[in-house]
Amino acid sequence: MSEATPFSSFVDLCEKLTGTTKRNEKITLVSQFLRGLTPSELGPAARFIIGRPLAGLDDDTLDVNWQTLSRIEASGTREAGQGVPPLFISDVSERFSAIASCRGKGSQREREELLRGLFARATEAEARWLRHIIFGEMQHGVGEGVMVAAIARAADVKLALAKRAMMFVGDVGELARIGVIEGRSALEGIGLSVGHPIQPMLAQIAENVGTATEEHGGATALEYKFDGARVQIHVHAGGTRIFSRRLSDVTESLPDVVAAIAKDVAGREAVLEGEVVAQSVDGRPLPFQELMRRFRRVHDIESMVNEVPVRLYLFDLLFLDGEPFIDRPYAERWDQLAQLMSENLLADRLVTGDKGEGEAFLQAAMDAGHEGLMAKALDSPYTPGARGKKWLKIKPAEHLDLVIIAADWGYGRRTGWLSNYHLAARSEGSDEFCMIGKTFKGLTDDEFREMTKRLLELKVREKRGTVFVRPTIVVEVAYNEIQRSPRYASGFALRFARIKAIRYDKSPHQADTIERVHNLFQRQFERKGRS
Ligand code: AMP
Repeated sequence: MSEATPFSSFVDLCEKLTGTTKRNEKITLVSQFLRGLTPSELGPAARFIIGRPLAGLDDDTLDVNWQTLSRIEASGTREAGQGVPPLFISDVSERFSAIASCRGKGSQREREELLRGLFARATEAEARWLRHIIFGEMQHGVGEGVMVAAIARAADVKLALAKRAMMFVGDVGELARIGVIEGRSALEGIGLSVGHPIQPMLAQIAENVGTATEEHGGATALEYKFDGARVQIHVHAGGTRIFSRRLSDVTESLPDVVAAIAKDVAGREAVLEGEVVAQSVDGRPLPFQELMRRFRRVHDIESMVNEVPVRLYLFDLLFLDGEPFIDRPYAERWDQLAQLMSENLLADRLVTGDKGEGEAFLQAAMDAGHEGLMAKALDSPYTPGARGKKWLKIKPAEHLDLVIIAADWGYGRRTGWLSNYHLAARSEGSDEFCMIGKTFKGLTDDEFREMTKRLLELKVREKRGTVFVRPTIVVEVAYNEIQRSPRYASGFALRFARIKAIRYDKSPHQADTIERVHNLFQRQFERKGRS
């Protein structure tokens, strides 16, 4: 049995990882380190190595910002041998969990206190790596891929087996624990069984119904995209359990959902997937926040059931009567689902190859108060935890007023025009503009010509095919999603940006701010988690 591992050993590992660029060496270093850990350290340590402070999905964060942390670090770390007890990996993990469970009034102060206590026990090097973990930026080149390979090596199994197991458990910590402690047969035994939730299949974003249909080979299944909480419902003789997207058991919060499916699944063994949405008295979907009240309530759940009524929309069947269904094509899983469950429990759905029909369906989803559509490839298996192109989300466009700060010379048909525009948001209270995207879409030929002329009048300098201009011209930009991106200094990038209108009537001071972009992003994030 190994001894408890000091956090300084973790720091040593990280510095060694920083010192090599060779993937294979990194795998060796990590696998050796994992082998030396105690069973209870394996999970946390494996997560820390890839910059995840907590168990669960990657959208769990400690909710600490740079300013707070800098303030705490400034208030002091420990010098080695100062009489303060050294930190162990288990201390760090316990402290992170405590910080994550601070809720409600006064939680900000409480979090800071807990962090202060942690940093007071850390040496300078330890503090640096604590910060890297907290912000998920390890910078030593070990991500999930290398980690899974290191776990495979530590457990002495084939990489393919570790990868397959990872698909189901979805958490490197859990994978490391199972692999290193329980070994090969435990890894082989991982799969879908009733009562044990698996990682949900995820979606990429598509620009519109047309591109999604094309991606899926000419015909696709469109479903309403409901703005609620994803649920995986496991039904067996012992009862029904409902799991959230983060795989926590939320059955107690949703007694009415358990009741709603009871008749259809009586005597069966099944795993169903769907979205739970809060609903107003007239049957319209309510904002996600309303639904969250349901999950926050611990006492008196019965009264909440009446206060925030919910509706279930099922969209998948992963298991039925002893048989896993995830390797079967989606079309078949849906047919089985539709046979099993009452129609009023199913997601609104349309299989089509017709763009016009699809767009009308999107409009209908929006009119009914939903978020957009999901497009699902008819022949696709269910791939747990994967964010691929077999499921595509289609959201209607949103708009921002942005400033053009530079433009690239076009080529091909656009030779001679400044045709790819660098778009920036204003920074509140300063004259700075922060770039959040580029687009060459949306203008007519005449507008390109006119825009080129105007931009050249505003030119400040030119470098390698890019003309930088005085930020003057405001354009209304449509986009489908804001993403976190290291590409631009702002940290954000717009997906599928295109120019809707040139706003000659607006001055750059009236453009949207980067603070607003941040808020819009945060709202996406609060609803569904980070992409
Ligand atoms: P996003 O979180 O924006 O990547 O969108 C994916 C999420 O949309 C899923 O995790 C579900 O919670 C939710 N969703 C809503 N309606 C559907 C649907 N018909 N099929 C799959 N997921 C859906």
